[in-house]
Parts: sequence; structure tokens; C-alpha cells
Amino acid sequence: MPGFELFGDLERQQVNDVLDNGVLMRYGFDGMRKGHWKAKALEQELQNTFKAKHVQLVSSGTAAVSVALAAAGIGAGDEVIMPTFTFVASFEAIMLLGAIPILVDVDDTLGLNPEAVKKAITLKTKAIMVVQMCGSMANMDALQEVAKAHDVLLVEDACQAIGGTYKGKPLGSIGHLGCFSFDFVKTITCGEGGAVVTNNGQYYTNADHYSDHGHDHVGNDRGAETHPFLGYNFRISELHAAVGLAQVKRLPEFLAIQKKNFNILREALSEIPEVTFRTVPEGGVESCAFLNFFLPDLETTRSVINGFKAQGIDVCWNYYDNNWHYIRKWEHLKELKSLFPISHEVKNGLEYLKTKTFEMSDHYIGRNISCLIKLSWTEEEVKTRANKMAKVIRASVK
Ligand SMILES: *Cc1c(COP(=O)(O)O)cnc(C)c1O
Repeated sequence: MPGFELFGDLERQQVNDVLDNGVLMRYGFDGMRKGHWKAKALEQELQNTFKAKHVQLVSSGTAAVSVALAAAGIGAGDEVIMPTFTFVASFEAIMLLGAIPILVDVDDTLGLNPEAVKKAITLKTKAIMVVQMCGSMANMDALQEVAKAHDVLLVEDACQAIGGTYKGKPLGSIGHLGCFSFDFVKTITCGEGGAVVTNNGQYYTNADHYSDHGHDHVGNDRGAETHPFLGYNFRISELHAAVGLAQVKRLPEFLAIQKKNFNILREALSEIPEVTFRTVPEGGVESCAFLNFFLPDLETTRSVINGFKAQGIDVCWNYYDNNWHYIRKWEHLKELKSLFPISHEVKNGLEYLKTKTFEMSDHYIGRNISCLIKLSWTEEEVKTRANKMAKVIRASVK
């Protein structure tokens, strides 16, 4: 997945353009720029890549989620449904706005289970936030149906699924708002960066203003601009955008490499009867940033992970035992360990986490292994890795 693996002259040249004119900021300084608007150019590229009318770059994927929710008017006391399996950024971004994360089970897609989502909807629910984990997707038709039936927004976090598609649409472009991350380990990297994508003109304008202190971006004198509403600073810099501009042009190349490496590994593992692969909803095409498979039980899964470690097979994880991606290790959320006071509304809204169990999620996440697909592996390396992985698995399932 990480685009940084193939850094080269294109990235260097884009960054040098910015350094040559010295304008590191994305707004203003028109005269000094010598025509270079890296953030603007990247937004245009991303509109094409993600087939979306509007793209707003921001400083991170986490910021993208907060900005997307804020742009749609979600805030204090509102409930946002999110999966138990995701990066901590999901609830961080919700709580930043004073909204309440409602955690819901994932199924064999490793994404939100539509039935569980339905059950979690209350009068306070404002959005369903689906997270397209590890290069693939949840059952989007079913989730769209639930969102529509209950008149709530569908927000799509596609940070880990850049380049995946569902029924011909890029992941991230299906919900009312989509969020992307271009942090250092994502398929396209800016170093740090993110994007909100939407076809809704009002959400876009809101995101554009909100991510820059409420600036209305009318005219070319920043000081004279007005502030129609309160904002914040979630801006991306020109230096970061320049790196992303080089990387996005290489996305087709990155995706082709991912697919090739993914297929070699998948083929080797598919010969083992005890291995099953994650369900990809009908009409879905994975980005191949990760290969995900299930083993018969948690014990076998842990033994395979240990076997991989012993054999020097890196970048494979069982997220059940991971501190950052699964609810089991999120004590700081469950116990509300906050540096600053949290509103009573959010405190009360999160009481359920003290007692709620997630058997369906445990059932799938406990038996899942997720292997990052690297761009820099040679074909020989992937084949050797595939053989070693198959050997470890065969020894563990006996
Ligand atoms: C990386 C990631 C984020 C956060 O992105 P940052 O740019 O690191 O803030 C959010 N959600 C998911 C699913 C991610 O993988």
C-alpha cells in the first residue's frame, strides 16, 4: 500500500516547484507563485480519480472526517454510527464535534453489518459512517438502503481503500460525503493530508470555508474576505499537496502492482481448505492494498501470526490483539480518559460501551489476518513469501 515506497523524481520535481517560488501556503500570494497552485491542481486530479464533483483537501484523514461531518451540520449530541473495526481516528473525529460515536458490529466483509446498523438507529442518529477497511468495502447497497429508509447521511471513510470500486464507482464517492487520508502509509501519500469528496455543492462550500477559519475565499485579498460562519484550521500546505500531486498521477501504476502481488499471495493461500477469504460484496473490486483471510478459530490465528513472525513474514496482523484498530483495546474511549472535560451528553451517550459486547465482530476479527501488500516487493520476493505463509498456515491448522 504505501506510496512512499516508490518515491522518485516526480515527487522531487513537484516539491521543488514549491520551494523555488517559496509559497508554502495554498491560499493567496498569487503574484509570487509563478503559476503553481499545487493544492488546487491536486483537488482537480482527485475529482477525476474519485469521480466526484467536489474535492476539498485538508490536513489529514482524521480532519477530513471531522470536516465532512461538520459540513453536513453534525455536532453536539448527534449520534454517528461507526464500526468496531476501524482506526481510532473514526471516533476521535466524531467526538471533536461533540457528537457521539455509536459502535456497531462488522461482518465477514470486515465492514459495518447492515442489520446491526438498522438496530442501532435512534431518533438521534444523524449519520452512518462506513469505513472501507483494508482495501475493500461493506455491503454498500444494503447500507444505502438503511440510510435512505431512516433519512440519515451515509459518510464513507475510504482512507484504506483508495482505488477500490463498488458497482463501477470509486470507493469514497458513494456516500453523501467521502473521506480520504494521504498520511505517510497510505496508497497515495502527501506526508500528511486528507480529502473530503462530495457531489453536494453546499457541503463542499461548507468544507472549503470550515477548513480555513471560515474564510469565504471570495476575491484575492485574504484580509478582506468575510467569515460567514465559525471555522477552524485544517489546511493542507503546498509542500504536502505537491507530493500528492506526483503520487496521484502514479496511482494506476501503484494499483497494478498491488493487484499483481495480491493475486500471487491469494492464489497460494486459496489451496489451503481451512483458509477462507473476506467477503467482497457483489459488484465490488478490492484495491488490493491488503489481503484479508479467515482461519478456523482465534487460537489458530494467533499461532499463525507467531509462525509468521518466526519466519520473518512482516506486515501481517490479527487486529483482535491490536491497540489501534479494534474496540477490544480502546480502554481510553470506554473509560473516557480525556485531557479535558467531556460534555455530559457525550458521557451519557457512551455509557453503553461499559457493558455492550460485540460477538459478531469478535467472531470475524478474532479469526482474521490482514496482510499489507507492498509496492516494492519483487515477484521473487512475493513468491517466496507466499510459500512461507502457506507452510506456516498448513503447520498450524493440522
Ligand atoms: C489512516 C486512517 C485515518 C486517518 O487518517 P490520518 O491522515 O492519519 O489522520 C482514518 N480512517 C482510516 C480508516 C484510516 O486508515
